[in-house]
Amino acid sequence: MHLVIASKHDFSYPMSKHHSTTPVAIIGAGASGLMTAITIGRAIEASGTDPAKAGILLLDGAKKIGIKILVAGGGRCNVTHHEVDEKQYATTKPPIVRSTLKRFSAQDSMDFFNELGVELKQENTGKMFPITDDAHTVLDALLDECNRLGIRIVNPWRVDRVESLNDGFIIHRASIDQESQDSILADRIVLATGGRALPKSGSDGQGYTIAQSLGHSITDHILPALVPLVVAQQSKWITELSGISTRATISAVSSTGKHIKSFTNDLLCTHFGVSGPGPMDISRWFTTARLSDRHTTLMINWIPGYSFEDIDHQLNQLGKAQVVTHLRTQIPERLARTLCEQAQIDPSTPGHTLTREARRKLAHLLTETRVFINDDRGFTHAEVTAGGVPIEEVNRKDFRSKLCPNLWLVGEILDVDGRIGGFNFQWAWSTGYIVGNAVAKSMMNPAHI
Ligand SMILES: Cc1cc2nc3c(=O)[nH]c(=O)nc-3n(C[C@H](O)[C@H](O)[C@H](O)COP(=O)(O)OP(=O)(O)OC[C@H]3O[C@@H](n4cnc5c(N)ncnc54)[C@H](O)[C@@H]3O)c2cc1C
Repeated sequence: MHLVIASKHDFSYPMSKHHSTTPVAIIGAGASGLMTAITIGRAIEASGTDPAKAGILLLDGAKKIGIKILVAGGGRCNVTHHEVDEKQYATTKPPIVRSTLKRFSAQDSMDFFNELGVELKQENTGKMFPITDDAHTVLDALLDECNRLGIRIVNPWRVDRVESLNDGFIIHRASIDQESQDSILADRIVLATGGRALPKSGSDGQGYTIAQSLGHSITDHILPALVPLVVAQQSKWITELSGISTRATISAVSSTGKHIKSFTNDLLCTHFGVSGPGPMDISRWFTTARLSDRHTTLMINWIPGYSFEDIDHQLNQLGKAQVVTHLRTQIPERLARTLCEQAQIDPSTPGHTLTREARRKLAHLLTETRVFINDDRGFTHAEVTAGGVPIEEVNRKDFRSKLCPNLWLVGEILDVDGRIGGFNFQWAWSTGYIVGNAVAKSMMNPAHI
């Protein structure tokens, strides 16, 4: 069967000097935009129509496509995680996240990349990386597939604003260059503009303004998430441990002492405060809690799994053994010495000479160090955004806007953010796949316009 791609406009390609028209424009060629485009192309191909003739257009403001994919996972790109479920995400609607992840799962991502020739390997943390340990493998495979499907990627083409017409949209370019096309007519739009993390990559929050102009709201707060945290003066001593990385349990604790959220993972002390997977995972819980409770702090248990009572008991059993000799079997020696210093204990003190008060002070520091945070390192150092377009504003089945006809939203622009470990890319792949199929369906069935 040869299907007609439905466009209410005079669809012409390539773009002419004035208005060019396209059945679908995907704004943003990051992970979610690329996945959306590929899925549309494949669905059209599967129907027997040449996807190159379907007019799938990807617009991106960045000079270079896919910067975030290239920098992800320290340049290795942590594509997904071997086990993904809704519990790894901060969301107001866990059932929607659960069903989305079921419809395009981590296994589906692995199969998708395998099919593109990107073999993945699982690390003992459960994170999945390309076996090449090179993010270019991932980006190149996505771009090659776009190329094979005849998807047109136009960049740098930064969208300034979008006008909604009765039966489509006019997309306006940010800076008007007399020599090139300055606006495009589109029957359908997919907003894949990401959030505000790493603004130099092109994701600077302009997508929120576009979404708002089309009738959407954004959450009251748009905050950096997966972001390192800067300690306040009272906790400056942590910065003296710069370079130390150790497994710890880190919690966000309210002014009333309530543990809001905890993560056990590696913690890196830096010249400004704390970084690494544990602190980055806790950051969004800390910063959002602090909006309503200025006295929210962090609490670190440097010996995960052990309580104050356990450690107090251990220290009480030391006999003639020096405190530091015992502690360095559990934590890095430099950390042990610093914690002794904070407890005003000479690290070489034999255990049995410790006073009860000193012993309890040390046990308290080892399991319940209170850390005061001044700030986070901001969007420049954040990996993802907490907040965005409320997920309630899109149809749960296909992420179609409930507020603007023929608009879909995909990826990080939505108010869902995941932990460190490949979960944010998985969200981009899953939503991209769902939206891509929904858009393709509407393109192949004029009744859906
Ligand atoms: C340093 C870093 C490391 C990370 N590492 C990992 C990791 O290893 N694993 C993981 O799962 N996640 C990781 N993430 C998070 C992950 O990169 C994002 O969650 C994911 O890229 C979001 O995909 P997206 O397509 O929704 O948005 P983005 O990737 O942000 O893409 C949005 C695109 O839209 C374009 N755009 C924005 N506004 C406009 C406009 N007005 N006009 C035209 N184009 C526009 C941008 O240029 C950009 O290309 C990392 C993020 C960072 C910053």
